[in-house]
Amino acid sequence: MTNAVAQCERITTAPGFMKANVFRGPGHFALEEKPIPHPGYGEAVIKVHLTTICGTDIHIIKGEYPVKPGLTIGHEAVGVIHELGPGVTGYEVGQRVRVGAITPCGQCEPCLGGHTSQCGGALGGWRLGNTIDGTQAEYVLIPYAQANLTVVPDDRRDEEVLLLSDIASTGFAAAESGRIQLGDTVAVFAQGPIGLCATLGAKLLGAAQIFAVDSEPHRLQTAKLFGATHTFLSSAHPVEMILARTHGRGVDVAVEALGVQETFENALRVLRPGGTLSSVGVYSGHLRIPLEAFGAGLADKTIVTTLCPGGKERMARLMRLVEAHRFNLIPLLTHTFTLDQIAEAYDVFTRRKDEVLKVAIHVR
Ligand SMILES: [Zn+2]
Ligand SMILES: [Zn+2]
Repeated sequence: MTNAVAQCERITTAPGFMKANVFRGPGHFALEEKPIPHPGYGEAVIKVHLTTICGTDIHIIKGEYPVKPGLTIGHEAVGVIHELGPGVTGYEVGQRVRVGAITPCGQCEPCLGGHTSQCGGALGGWRLGNTIDGTQAEYVLIPYAQANLTVVPDDRRDEEVLLLSDIASTGFAAAESGRIQLGDTVAVFAQGPIGLCATLGAKLLGAAQIFAVDSEPHRLQTAKLFGATHTFLSSAHPVEMILARTHGRGVDVAVEALGVQETFENALRVLRPGGTLSSVGVYSGHLRIPLEAFGAGLADKTIVTTLCPGGKERMARLMRLVEAHRFNLIPLLTHTFTLDQIAEAYDVFTRRKDEVLKVAIHVR
């Protein structure tokens, strides 16, 4: 992020053009002027009100996850329908909608089999800010709009629903993929925004004890708010502490929500034989499995991975939980910026300044 200062200069846009936060190659990004997109068949263009930055965007900026230079970054947004392409029915221009980070077609074999994030092939459902222009812009083109626009009820604020698109869908999916049962004991390694939502997901699914682990005390405080029954600092021997708390038995489900060797290994070490390690971290480089923690391959341990589930059915389910006041994600939005301040927002988020969890970026 060496060009942070240069990005702060304001750009103005000509009619028919918009501001967009563009990846220029490893270590570089900036606000640029791009033409406002127009929807083709089955597509919609959303005027973005609110977007955010994801940990995955940081991987992209650092060059750890490859995307094409020139791409607009971002995959979470709430906004209003600006223009509808032919073939999109049941929606109106001006309606406030939310789009999932994953925009599946809803028609291919993985989609119809329930694996919306793997639409068309491995990771294929993740298009926004990965293979097509993303949401950190004034307007964004949504493919397969019929399968991906969820109307936001008038009485719900943008801030209440923004994080359902990715963070909540992913975090809850970590708990769901772990097949948490009523009364289970669960450990969640890392309490960033996704880990916090995994903790919340474990609570919603009826876990009895939830052990939350992180390196930062303020994140452990939020973990308690989200349902953790016990919290442990990563520096204070969390594996030994959790094994002691379970009288040596280990946990039924261990969630890995960071994507590094240490947390993956710790999750495997606290997992009881027959338990499930549910991994939602994004890994870079190689990942090793410690064989003694894996019972040399014989301990009946299951390792599952999950990419954020998407599509309007998933998004509608999550919206119903918000409407029923089952949780409140607003405490995660610790900082607020405008699109013009996006370089500063990246700086705060990347360096974890000022106890940041998620940043709200107001676009209008
Ligand atoms: Zn994301
Ligand atoms: Zn599909």
